[in-house]
Amino acid sequence: MQRFYFDHNATTPVAPEVLEALAQCLEQAYGNPSSIHHFGQAAKQMVETARRQVAALIGCRPADLVFTSGGTESDNMAVLGVVRAAPASRNHVIATSIEHPAVLGPCRQLEKEGAALTLLPVGPDGVVDPEELRRAIRPETALVSVMHANNELGTVQPIAELAEIAHSAGALLHVDGVQAAGKIPVNVEQLGVDLYAISGHKLYAPKGAGALYIRKGVSMAPIAYGGRHERDRRPGTENVPGIVALGAAAELAARTLAAEAERIGALRDRFERAVLERISSAAVNGGAAKRTHNTSNIRFEGVDGEALVIALDLRGFAVSTGAACSSGALAPSHVLLAMGLTPDQSRGSMRFSLGRQNTAEQVDALIEALTESVAHLRRISAHA
Ligand SMILES: *Cc1c(COP(=O)(O)O)cnc(C)c1O
Repeated sequence: MQRFYFDHNATTPVAPEVLEALAQCLEQAYGNPSSIHHFGQAAKQMVETARRQVAALIGCRPADLVFTSGGTESDNMAVLGVVRAAPASRNHVIATSIEHPAVLGPCRQLEKEGAALTLLPVGPDGVVDPEELRRAIRPETALVSVMHANNELGTVQPIAELAEIAHSAGALLHVDGVQAAGKIPVNVEQLGVDLYAISGHKLYAPKGAGALYIRKGVSMAPIAYGGRHERDRRPGTENVPGIVALGAAAELAARTLAAEAERIGALRDRFERAVLERISSAAVNGGAAKRTHNTSNIRFEGVDGEALVIALDLRGFAVSTGAACSSGALAPSHVLLAMGLTPDQSRGSMRFSLGRQNTAEQVDALIEALTESVAHLRRISAHA
């Protein structure tokens, strides 16, 4: 059976160009970047090339980037680091209610440590209204954390406007850019953000490497202790192959972003048009908002999302529900609930996330399989 992958927001395959850079690094650059001999300096040079490549993708100075183990560590470093370094009088954190667990988790931890936490609502389109931030922000707010693009919906938040509001109250803005970098043009300096997190494996690099942009002058408390790597900001021997792969992936993304956004965006639009035309009682979640070009989140009335994921997997199509599996029970997605969907609507929602190898033929095959699977599941539940 042929298998087709439509779950690129969960993770992406490693691009051939990235694999090549990775293999070359593993073979040749095994030195420790901290060593002063030739082997160490060769590895260090590769890390610094990668730093320039990633900096070019998000529009910052290479010196303002710290390499990490991925999006989760970058988000933790940003949220915990900023708030723990803030004066005791600034002990309030604001995040949106649709953040990834990598941001919500450290926010909840700060709450346990005595910080106040405000979660901003989103509208039915999955976008934060800047007025909500204006209302929530206080003189004691240390940090505002808002994702650039949402992983379940693809909705893009008005980051520049939110940065202005945060700064007017003396707070910093952290942006989880994991789902935006490589999909939409990003310039952190123009956006005016203070911190920005990215992850390699959402960008056609392997899992386990990421980066955090930290604007010059932002003071951060460390979240780990050890050596003086990454200008004293992140201890531990660098994941040289992971970093080199991330650099190659960033370079490739910067070079192909515009053309791929157009090509994949057209496939996504063709998919959504066909689904809405052929399947009754289907609607696009967040469809009214500005979205990343590859993401489509659709709810099907009267269908169990998990059953649909399994039905499509049996036919060779990998998709995902918006729901997260927690302790064996399928909980409705906190993102879809925050937009105002009912738990049933949330459980009947599916995320289709397209990527570089998807073709029009694959999308057409998915439309067929989806139409049949939804009809089948609706027939069974009508007889139950
Ligand atoms: C995947 C993801 C993360 C976590 O990144 P990892 O590299 O898997 O730790 C954080 N935020 C968003 C929006 C994501 O999609």
